[in-house]
Parts: sequence; C-alpha cells; structure tokens
Amino acid sequence: MFRLFSSGVDDLVLVSSPTNGEITNQIGARFDRELIYTNIGEVLIAVNPYKQLPITGPEFIKMYQNSPGGNEAPPHIFALAERAYRRMVDENESQCVIISGESGAGKTVSAKLILQYVTAVSPNNSYGNSMGGGGSNNVPQYDGGSDDYGAPSGRGRALPMPGGRGMPPPARGGGVPNRGGVASRGAPPPPMGGGRGRGPPPPVSNVRAGAPPPPMSGGQAPPARGPAPPPSRGGPAARGRGGAPPPRAAPPQSRGGRNVDVEHIKKVILDSNPLMEAIGNAKTVRNDNSSRFGKYLEIQFDDNNAPVGGQISTFLLEKTRVTFQQKHERNFHIFYQMLAGLDQSTKSEWGLTQATDFYYLAQSKCTSIADVDDAADYIEVKNAMTTIAITSEEQTEIFRILAAILHVGNIRFQGEAPATVIDETPLQWAASLLGCDPQFLGQSLNHRQIQSGSVRHTQYAVPQNPDQSASLRDALAKTLYERIFDFIVTRINSAMQYHGSAKVIGVLDIYGFEVFERNSFEQFCINYVNERLQQIFIDLTVRGEQREYHEEGMKWKDISFFDNKIVVDLIDGNKPPGVMRVLDDVCKTVHAVDSATADTKFMEKLIHAIQSHPHLLISNTGSSANEFTIKHYAGDVTYSVEEFCFKNNDNLYASIVCCLQSSTYPFIASLFPENMSDNKTAPTTASYKIRQSANYLVQRLSACTPHYIRCIKPNDSKSPLSFTSSRVEHQVKYLGLLENIKVKRSGYAYRQLKDVFLNRFGRIFDVAPRNCQEFVEQITRAGKDISAEEFEEGKTKIFVKTPETIFLMEDLLMQK
Ligand code: ADP
Ligand code: MG
Repeated sequence: MFRLFSSGVDDLVLVSSPTNGEITNQIGARFDRELIYTNIGEVLIAVNPYKQLPITGPEFIKMYQNSPGGNEAPPHIFALAERAYRRMVDENESQCVIISGESGAGKTVSAKLILQYVTAVSPNNSYGNSMGGGGSNNVPQYDGGSDDYGAPSGRGRALPMPGGRGMPPPARGGGVPNRGGVASRGAPPPPMGGGRGRGPPPPVSNVRAGAPPPPMSGGQAPPARGPAPPPSRGGPAARGRGGAPPPRAAPPQSRGGRNVDVEHIKKVILDSNPLMEAIGNAKTVRNDNSSRFGKYLEIQFDDNNAPVGGQISTFLLEKTRVTFQQKHERNFHIFYQMLAGLDQSTKSEWGLTQATDFYYLAQSKCTSIADVDDAADYIEVKNAMTTIAITSEEQTEIFRILAAILHVGNIRFQGEAPATVIDETPLQWAASLLGCDPQFLGQSLNHRQIQSGSVRHTQYAVPQNPDQSASLRDALAKTLYERIFDFIVTRINSAMQYHGSAKVIGVLDIYGFEVFERNSFEQFCINYVNERLQQIFIDLTVRGEQREYHEEGMKWKDISFFDNKIVVDLIDGNKPPGVMRVLDDVCKTVHAVDSATADTKFMEKLIHAIQSHPHLLISNTGSSANEFTIKHYAGDVTYSVEEFCFKNNDNLYASIVCCLQSSTYPFIASLFPENMSDNKTAPTTASYKIRQSANYLVQRLSACTPHYIRCIKPNDSKSPLSFTSSRVEHQVKYLGLLENIKVKRSGYAYRQLKDVFLNRFGRIFDVAPRNCQEFVEQITRAGKDISAEEFEEGKTKIFVKTPETIFLMEDLLMQK
C-alpha cells in the first residue's frame, strides 16, 4: 500500500494532511500514469483523459463484475457501477448515481459507461423467464490478475470502503448486507413503476428559455442567398398522424406473469442516447458534444434484476440555442444531421440547401465539427427513432418542423410597427412547412396578443416593431423546438414504460455549478438546482454519517460542515420570501410589457423584501441597482437582473399558439394542446417549474442509495492527458473534496456488524475473540502498532478509525 504514496493514492482518505493542493497533486500523479479514477471512500473522482483509454472493454466489465461489491479492484467507474447494481440486488434497494462537474469534465461519458455496465451485467430475461441470459445470476469467478487496472490484487491497492458498506466481504459472492448503515436508509423503492399518470411533474425544459433575443434585429440582413420559394402556398393536405403515441414497436410476448422483452428495453436504453444527444447536445467552445439539458434516467429492474423499463426526465433545455449561438459554437446537432443526411428530393421539397444559408446555423460561423460525420449520425438517429417506435411518418413530421424552424430564422422585418416582412420567401416556406396560412403566420409575428390588465378576458393585438417581431419569431422557433424535444422524450418514455413495481438505478447527468463573467437567469436556475443537490449530498453523506454514529450510541463529536440550507431558503423560501418568490410576485403584478421596467421593480422589491441576509449582497441599492450576489456553497456569484422577469414569465404567445393550432398538419396541432381561451389559470413561471423539478429530483434521489461521481476537467484545450494544476485545484475546491475527506477521516473509516467483523478478523488469532473487547485486547497485544483507540463499539457494529489499521489487520489475516 505504501508504494502507492509516491504516485498518488487509490483513496484520498489516505492522504495524511489533506489540502486542496495536496489532493490536486495526488490526482495529478495518478493522472500522469493514466489512472484517471481515484476514490474518496465511495465517492469516485474521474478526470477526463481526452483520450480513449483501453479500460472500458468487456474484459473490464467482467473483471469488476467479479469483484464483489466492486471494492477490491482499483478505483474505476465500473467498480462504482458494480457497487450500485450489487447493492440493488443484495439489499433490494433503489440506487442512484449522481454525476457532477463542469462542462466538458466527462459527465455524459460517465453516465454512458454506467449504463453500459448495468445493461451488460444484468440478465436478459425478466422475472418468470429467467432461463439462461448473461446475467448476474451466473457470474464466473474472478481468476486473478495483475496490475493497476489489471487486477483486484488482494488488498494491495484496495482500500476497504470507508463507511464500511463495502469492506472486503467475508466471502465472495455478494456484497455485505449491512442494513444498519447509511446505505440502507430511505430503503423502500420509490413508488414508481411506469404508471405515467403518477409520474413526475412535467419536466421543466424551458427555464433557459426565452433568453436574450439574438443580436439580430429587424434590420439585420440574413444571408443573401436563400432557397427558392416553396412550390405551393397555403396548407398542404393533412397527412399527419396526430400525436397520440402508437403501441410499442414490438409488444413483448406475455408468457404468464409480467414478461418484458428485456433485450428490447436494453436496446432502447442504449439507442435513445444518440437520439437524446442529437436533439439536446451541441458544440460549444468548451465541449464538442456539450449536453444543453439536464437528464435523470431511471432504469427499472424487476425481481430478476433485469431492466424492464425506464423513465427519463429532462431539465432546463437551453432552447435559446435554437436561435442564438456564440461564435464557434453550433446549434443542436440534429439540424446539421438533417442537412447532411436527408435525401435530395426531400431537401428540395422543403427548400433546404446548406447550413450557411440559414441564419440560425450561419451566425456562429461554425457548421461542422472535426471528426464528426453528421450524415452517419443522421442514420443512427433515424434508427434510434425507429427503435423507440416513432413511425416513419412521424419522423417526417419531425424533420419537416425542423426544416420550418430554419426558414423561420430567415424571416426579417422592417418599417414601423406593425413591422413588415422584408422578403416573403422564408415566411412562405415556413408557413408551407407548418401547414399554416402565410398571412396568419405573418400577423402572429407582427402583432402580440396581450390581455388587458384591468378588464379581464379582453385581448388586445399590439402592433410590434421590427425588433419585437424578431423576438416573436424567435419565440416561435424555440417553442416549436421545445415541443419536438418533449415529444421525443415522451416517446422514449413510452418505449420504456413498465407497469409494475420495480426498484431503480437512476443516473443524474446535469450541469454543474456555473459562474461566468456575466450571470443571468439561466445560471441562477442551474446554481439553485446545484444547491439542492448539495443538500442531498450533505444529507446523505455528512448528516447520514453523523446520524449513524448517534444511533449507534458512539462518542462522536459532530464535525462542523457548512449546511447550505440557508442558501436554498434564500432562493426558494416562502416565509420569509426568497428571491424566486419575490420574482414571481413581480411577474404576476407587472404585466411585463416592458421587461426593463419589470426588472427594476424586481430589484426594488428584492431590496425591500430581503433587507439583510448573510448570503445576499446588493452593493448598489440605489435606483440603478441591477445586480445581486448570492454567496453560494461553491462561491459567490453575481447575477445581472436584466431579463429576469421576461425569462421567468416565459410566455407562450397566444397569437403564435393559435396560428400553430390552425395547422393543417394534425401532428403540429397536436403539439399545442393548450386551451388558449382559458384565462383563469395563472401562467406558471419558469422559476416555479424549476422548483417543481428540483423537488421531484430531490424526492426521487432521496429514496435511493446515492453514489457520487465527481468529474474533473484537466485542461481547457481538450488536450489528451494534459493536466493544468491550477484548473484542477479550482474544481477540487468547489467540488468540496477536502471537506469530503475530512468527514471521512474524522469519522470512522470502516464499520461492520459485530458478527461479520469478528468472523472475519477473529481468524487472525488462534483463539477467536468472542466479543469486541476481547478482540481489542488481542489485537493490541499482537505486537503491531495498533492502539485500542482505533476501535469503538456501537450498539450493533464495530467501528474502526483509520484505514491504516484495516490494512494492518488485513496483513495479519494474510499471514495466517
Ligand atoms: P460533460 O458531459 O461533463 O460536459 P462529456 O462527458 O461530454 O462532458 O465529455 C467531453 C468530451 O471529453 C467527450 O466528448 C470525450 O471526447 C472526452 N471524454 C470525457 N470522458 C472521457 C473518458 N472517460 N475517456 C475518454 N474521453 C473522455
Ligand atoms: Mg454532458
């Protein structure tokens, strides 16, 4: 074990005087040896190598699958996946894997590896049909091995899992049941089971919404070259199929009981990934395949521990990207895939030419990505759509809407309010592809319906100037895109739907904490969700740890940690009102006709409502106050309030919705089921929806045993195996790794039920000790430097302070 210190330790709990710098050095030393994974107890640190390492092939799956509890092999994402799967099997508990880290740190790749592992090791048959299959029930025994990633080499590199939940088990063949531990809390699997009716609240995918209108105003010229006008005007004949989900592609044969086509479910789980990435990922300056939404995927398992269903929830889709991207970034992949993969005749029929002809794709001056073949990806995406039972007619509907969005982006305006369209061609293409009357579409862009503030149920059509019309145009594009996104997510869920009770493994891949030079409503929402996730982290690790010590009646002094509940309350509290509550109140009362006025009002109310709070700073409290700072658990972030109200309102513009509801394509009309004449229901705000989503997430995650992956980005240039210490240290700091280690070190590195403990370590002695006291007497007499202080007896368990003691005991055991 000690040789490990020269090149970085397997488990950072072993670092004797941990500092952020030392942690960084240790991670760096391992990274230099291409060891990208390091543990802190059961928390996995994963550094992005930006290079394909040969460590995730089937032989690695096999190796970790055979390493009980995933504990004896070197740190690896498969060890974590194994631990999660095994614990679900052994203890019949739902599990979740929470992946965090900044953009480009490797979260999405990690999530995929977890799914890859779990689908590989689980059986291929559902309950009641458990013959054969490559499953957990016929695991070959591990046959030894060699080095670093080569072998669970006995105890050499392996640190018994602090927390005791996965200590080298007394015998191979399964994790150690340890029902008293933290892991066992929250045991009952969540009452899910596919019934969509009782499913989650609607996923919030629109908070990043309504963001700044692109710097394109009415007067700004789109690319000069454009496709010829559409062949025919007016609505095409109705040929949509409507939006009702069809039956699953291949209904599983029912052979008595609840039989599910497990192999089909596995295929859906794996194939839906490229589809989700096509519609939700994009090239950014930080990551060529950056997820622009958060995702929580739960895989459901039956009594045979086979995946029988699943459910995806999405969060915070950055729909602004449809209409605006920074230089060198791209729109969502699907647009480029469509242009590269669609056959020529359909392209001409839809007026599609090349990316540079469409403002929504051309503005950022980046239309391709090195090493990415958009045409090949198009085929993969179409196949995935087929797998999840999106019919080929529906696929056509989807791509036609995407084509329409591109034409919408080329519509530009001029003149006085109501603005007029400069060139009719893109408007006509858009109207034709959307099955709308071009005149109606034009009017819904240069007029806005607003409801009178004083006289209820009275609508006014307010003429819009070119800038305002352009922003309605962008709202149309974003709304259409969002509805397609939601449609596809719904379909993936239908394809994975399972009726029956199940335990789950959930995988959360969501944006980490964000701090930019200028932070807006989007960052505010993301950072709020991260505060909530931090609460779960504290609750399940630190607080849970302490609770266990109390329950076991230990002499344990609570160590202090920063409980960020105070920040969560500051943001979402009701009494006293938090920032979101103040924002919602302002949005309700000020009919955000003028968004700047509303923002000013919001600042005034904020200053008034939250006069002094240790985590809120408003430096300029005068009339020009336009920013506030929140002291988040991960650091201070200053938010500019500009457009907070506009984005929070996230209004669906009545005129646009009415126009789309009039579409001659039933598919399009079905994407807009809302009743626009119903004025009674107050429109929900973006911040309300994000609170709902966060509550849902917290509720789901709290019902599971958590496993954490902290992803680290080693450099800013996407360079293979290059490690910039300053960048890493910063992440180490805000991921709270140091506190994590301290809690582990100041607590007990290991705990085990008394019987199990004495059974295992009693074998060190010729005469097995009968109780903890006898054990301590004998071990301290054994001539090794083990002090009695190292042990503590609880009500049901024996606790050991430091990992070093466990190693010494393991040594003694081996010499036996
Ligand atoms: P995030 O989801 O955190 O933004 P990604 O998971 O998309 O980051 O990773 C960004 C890129 O880094 C990937 O596209 C891939 O090229 C590379 N990468 C990440 N993790 C790994 C890994 N474990 N092995 C090899 N390359 C990786
Ligand atoms: Mg990602």
